Amino acid sequence: SLIVKDVSKQFGNNVVISNYSMEVAPGEITVILGESGSGKTTILRMINHLEEVDKGSISIDDTYLVKDGEYQDNQSIKDYQYKIGLVFQDYQLFPNLSVTENLLLAPLSNKFADKAVLEERAASLLEQMGVGDKGDSKPSQLSGGQKQRVAIARAMMMNPSLLCFDEPTSALDEKTVGKIAELITQLSNQGIMILIITHDNELVKLLGDARVIRTTEFIK
Ligand code: ATP
Repeated sequence: SLIVKDVSKQFGNNVVISNYSMEVAPGEITVILGESGSGKTTILRMINHLEEVDKGSISIDDTYLVKDGEYQDNQSIKDYQYKIGLVFQDYQLFPNLSVTENLLLAPLSNKFADKAVLEERAASLLEQMGVGDKGDSKPSQLSGGQKQRVAIARAMMMNPSLLCFDEPTSALDEKTVGKIAELITQLSNQGIMILIITHDNELVKLLGDARVIRTTEFIK
C-alpha cells in the first residue's frame, strides 16, 4: 500500500495540507478531487518526491521516502521511486524519439533489464494500451488519446506498484475520456494501485467504484 501519514505542507503562511493521512491499496483507484489551488498538485508532487513535506511520513510497501519528516538515504529513496509510475498532464513524451524509444529510455539508462526484454515489454504494453501499431511513430503523429496511452505504457515499463495520473483527462474529449477511464479500471483490476488527481467530476463518475478524496479534507 501507499501510506501517507500525518503529512503537512505550507508555503509561507499558506497552509495547504495539515496533518493529513491517506492510504491506497493494491487494486484500488483513489481519486483526489478538488478545485484549482486546493493542493492536488502539491500532494501528488510530494508523493513523487518532486516537493518536500514539512512533516510526516510517506511509504510504499514498507519502503520509506520520508519517515517522521526525515528523508531516507539515497538507495531507499531510489527503491521507493522505482515503485511509482507517473503519467504527466501534458504527457511529456520526448518529441525527437519514437514511441518505442520513449518507452525504453528510462529503463535502459537505469539498467532495469536487457534491451531485448525491454523491447518485448514495450511492444506488449503498447498492444495492451491499444496502440500496438504506433511503436515507430513520433509523438507528433499521435492524437491526444493515443499520446495518453503511450504515456501510460511508458509509466508501466518498470513495473510500478503505484500508477499516478496528473489531470489525465484535461486535454481529452468526452469519448476519449470514457476509453481512458476503461483503461485505468483495467489496470486497477490487474492489481496495480491507482492515484488520480483531477477536478473532472465526469471522470469520477466513469470510474465507478473509485474512492474519492476531497481536498477539503487536507485541512481540518
Ligand atoms: P490546480 O488544479 O490549479 O493545479 P491544485 O489543486 O493542484 O490546483 P496546488 O498547485 O497544489 O493546487 O496549489 C495549492 C496551493 O499552494 C495554492 O495556494 C498555491 O498557490 C500554493 N503553491 C503551490 N506550489 C507553490 C510554490 N512552489 N510556492 C508557493 N506556493 C505554492
